[in-house]
Amino acid sequence: MTLDQATIDRLAAKPVPPQRLLIGGNWVEGEGEPVPVISPINGARLTELAGASAADVARACAVARAAFDDGRWAGLAPADRKRVLHRLADLIEAHAVELAVLGVRDNGTEISMALKAEPGSAAATFRYYAEAIDKVYGEVAPTAGNVLALIHREPVGVVGAIVPWNFPLMIGAWKVAPALAMGNSVVLKPAETASLTLLRLAELALEAGVPPGVFNVVTGQGRVTGEALALSPDVDVLVFTGSGATGRRLLEYSARSNLKRCYLELGGKSPNIVFADAPDLAAAAKAAAMAIFRNAGQVCVAGSRLLVEASVQEDFLEALAKATAALRVGNPLDLGTQVGAVNSLAQLEGNLRFVAESRAEGAEVVRGGARILTETGGYYMDPAIVARVAPSQRLFREEVFGPVLAVTAFETEAEALHLANATDYGLAAGVWTANLGRAHRMVRGIRAGVVHVNTYGGADVTVPLAGAKQSGNGADKSLHALEKYTDLKTAWIQL
Ligand code: ADP
Repeated sequence: MTLDQATIDRLAAKPVPPQRLLIGGNWVEGEGEPVPVISPINGARLTELAGASAADVARACAVARAAFDDGRWAGLAPADRKRVLHRLADLIEAHAVELAVLGVRDNGTEISMALKAEPGSAAATFRYYAEAIDKVYGEVAPTAGNVLALIHREPVGVVGAIVPWNFPLMIGAWKVAPALAMGNSVVLKPAETASLTLLRLAELALEAGVPPGVFNVVTGQGRVTGEALALSPDVDVLVFTGSGATGRRLLEYSARSNLKRCYLELGGKSPNIVFADAPDLAAAAKAAAMAIFRNAGQVCVAGSRLLVEASVQEDFLEALAKATAALRVGNPLDLGTQVGAVNSLAQLEGNLRFVAESRAEGAEVVRGGARILTETGGYYMDPAIVARVAPSQRLFREEVFGPVLAVTAFETEAEALHLANATDYGLAAGVWTANLGRAHRMVRGIRAGVVHVNTYGGADVTVPLAGAKQSGNGADKSLHALEKYTDLKTAWIQL
C-alpha cells in the first residue's frame, strides 16, 4: 500500500457527518448526550458521536444475545463464516487509506505508522482468525474403560469489548476478530476520543455479510455507556484494553452483576535496558527514542523507562538526545511526521504535569517537555527525556502514556533486573546486549509478557500480547486468544 500526500489531503478535507449507534444492523440515534469529537491535530470540532444511554446499551446487548441464541452466525458452516471474515479483511484493505486518514483525524497518530498499524494490522488480524475457524476444534480425551469423552469447544455467547483510543482499529480487531471467528456476538464500546474508524469497521462488517445483530457498536462516555455494558447481564465475557483504574471498576461491575469473565490489558511502565556491551550503542539510542516517542508515547508497550549501564550513561544520553531532536514532531497527516499529536488536551496536561513534578523532585530534564506548535490549536509536545529518575518517583512507577522517557542508571546486571521488575506492571521490556547468556538470563528474569532483545517493539498477530502482574490477564493475538472466546464442554459417554 503506497500513500501520497495529495490523497491524504483530499480525504482529510472531507466533512465527517454526525455518527450513530449500530444496534441490530440499524444505525440509530442515542438517547444520551451526543459526544463532541475534537481533532487533536488542530483542536477543532470534527463531528459528534451518539451517546448511548444505559437503555440503548441494554437494547444492544439483548439484540446480541438473540442473534447468538438463534444461531444466525454461530450456526453457519465454518467455511461460510470464514468467507465473511476474509471479505471483511478485503474491505478493510480496499478502504485502508480512507480508514487511516479518518483515524488520524480522530486520534492524532502519525499517518505513516497509522496505515500499517491500524487498517494494516486489522486486516491481518481478521484474516488470521478467519483461517483459524476451520482449524481449531475439539479433542478426544484418553479415558479408561468403555467411555468416550469428547471435549467440545463452544462460543461463549455475547462478548462485550471496551477499547482505548491509541490504536482503536488494531486493538478493536484483536478483540472483535477472534470473538466473531469463534461464533460469538459482539457489543463494542470504542473510546470517546477514537470511535470513528470502529464505526466504519462495523459498516464494512455488515457489507461483508456479518448478519445484523451479531456485531453492534455503542459509543459514548465510559462512565455511562461503558459502565452499562460492563454491568449487562447479557454479556458473558468482557474484554478490555485501557487504564488500570477502569480495569478495577470493570471487575467491580462484574462482581455486582453476573460474574462475567473479565480479560484486562492495562498498560505498562516497560523497561528498556541498555548494557555497555550492546552490539551497537548508536543503533540502540535511535531505537530507544522510537520505543518511547512513536505515536507520541501513546503505546501500551512503550519503552518508557530507560535503564542504562552507568559507564555508558553520558554518551548514551547524548546520542539519545540527538536522535530525539532529529524526530519530526507535527501534523500527523504529513507523511514526513514521525511523532504526531497527543490525543487530547487532558492527556497533554497530564504529560506536562509529570515532567514538572519530576523536575521539582530533582530529576534532570535533558531535553523537551514543553507544549509546542500551539499556533496550530493542536496538542503537540516536544518529546521529553528525564534523567536521574529515582525508583521512588512517580515518573518511574506510573504510566504517563505520553512522550516522556524516564532514565535511570544501574551498575550491575542484578541491579538492572531488580530495577526492571520494580514496577506493578509487566507488559513489555527490551534488553540490549551482545552477551547471549545475559540476554537469556534477562528474558527469564523479567516479569513481562514480551521481552525484546537488541530491538524494541516488534510484534505481529502470530504472537500473544499477554500482561504479567497488573498489566492484565489473558492474551490478545495468536491462537491463545481463542481461550477467551470459547468455553470447553465435556461429553462423557458410556459405550
Ligand atoms: P484512558 O485513561 O487511557 O482514556 P480508560 O481506561 O479511561 O483509559 O479508557 C479506556 C476505555 O474504557 C474507553 O473506551 C473508555 O470510554 C472506557 N471507560 C472509561 N471509564 C469506564 C467505566 N467506568 N466503565 C466502563 N468503561 C469505561
